[in-house]
Amino acid sequence: MRVAVFSAKGYDRRFLEASNRRFGHDLIFFDARLDTATAQLADGADAVCVFVNDCVDADVLAALDRLGVRTVALRCAGFNNVDLPAAEALEIAVVRVPAYSPEAVAEFTIGLLLALDRKIHRAWARVRENNFALDGLIGRNVHGRVAGVVGTGRIGALVARALRLGFGCEVLASDPYEDENLKAIGVRYVPRAQLLTESDIISLHCPLTPDTRHLIDREVIARARKGLVIVNTSRGALIDTSAVIEGLKRGDIGGIALDVYEQEADLFFADLSDEIVQDDVFQRLLTFPNVLITGHQAFLTEEALTAICDTTLGNLAAVEAGEPLVNRVSSASHMGCPVQPIVP
Ligand code: NAD
Repeated sequence: MRVAVFSAKGYDRRFLEASNRRFGHDLIFFDARLDTATAQLADGADAVCVFVNDCVDADVLAALDRLGVRTVALRCAGFNNVDLPAAEALEIAVVRVPAYSPEAVAEFTIGLLLALDRKIHRAWARVRENNFALDGLIGRNVHGRVAGVVGTGRIGALVARALRLGFGCEVLASDPYEDENLKAIGVRYVPRAQLLTESDIISLHCPLTPDTRHLIDREVIARARKGLVIVNTSRGALIDTSAVIEGLKRGDIGGIALDVYEQEADLFFADLSDEIVQDDVFQRLLTFPNVLITGHQAFLTEEALTAICDTTLGNLAAVEAGEPLVNRVSSASHMGCPVQPIVP
């Protein structure tokens, strides 16, 4: 299958080419992000392969349709950047990688929490300047705090387990589907509003949907525990960033660690070190000592990249062979419910 791979970084090429030895697709790599201006690059391709910040809206899908592209292969789990009803109307199949290494993201989430809470990022910067003073580096134990996990799917369940069994937190959870294994270790499912008001630490692991957009907003921050610590490795728009900035300025929020950001498409995955970043909200966030931001790297392990590439190229092989697409996403699956196999 001829595949136009958008937003292709060096590591994408390396891992896709290694995996492709087993599949033999014809891969054409483009640095460019997929959008209306770049869709034309897919001319002659059967499929496009895209990542989290590629734009696969109705206009882009119409352009791809005109070029004869029949499949969008997401090399990620989230699919909020795809207009699924538009894809369905055009009979363009959308496939994704539902699970590649939830451990990679869960471990990074815990890493962010510890780094933020124990000020490890600030300590490292000091030590590099031969400043070994400890003033200002007092942290908090994770042990014994109330941790709220929103979304206990593949990643959230691992985080909840680590917080409960590894750190001895009281863990509250919110998810339309309750995980019996988590309940067995003492994780308590409570209504979302209760979780948001009773947690000292909140970690977000639900998908971005109309119901979860700006799940953390002004009202939630006003009702939350003073000194609340938030970790978001899920999707940026789960958080109203302006409301968080106000909460940080008032001192109501004790700290926030973000691997995702609502407007990240204009920033992340590119080296902008020689440029003037125009996003004032993002720049304001960076000025707080209790904010830790990484550029959507929670997934980035060797194990995850290998699994992502194997599944993505396997999805395309299934399309080519006319096999059932077990990893197809449809508008009915937008709540993160299990996806039913659909024959193309
Ligand atoms: P998953 O589908 O296994 O789990 C999501 C869970 O959220 C499900 O249990 C679902 O029932 C639940 N959910 C749905 N709506 C909810 C709501 N309104 N309130 C509470 N829970 C709700 O997904 P996953 O693989 O665990 O991924 C979780 C998130 O992490 C996704 O948004 C994904 O895009 C993101 N992610 C980020 C990275 C990264 O590098 N930062 C990597 C992979 C995944």
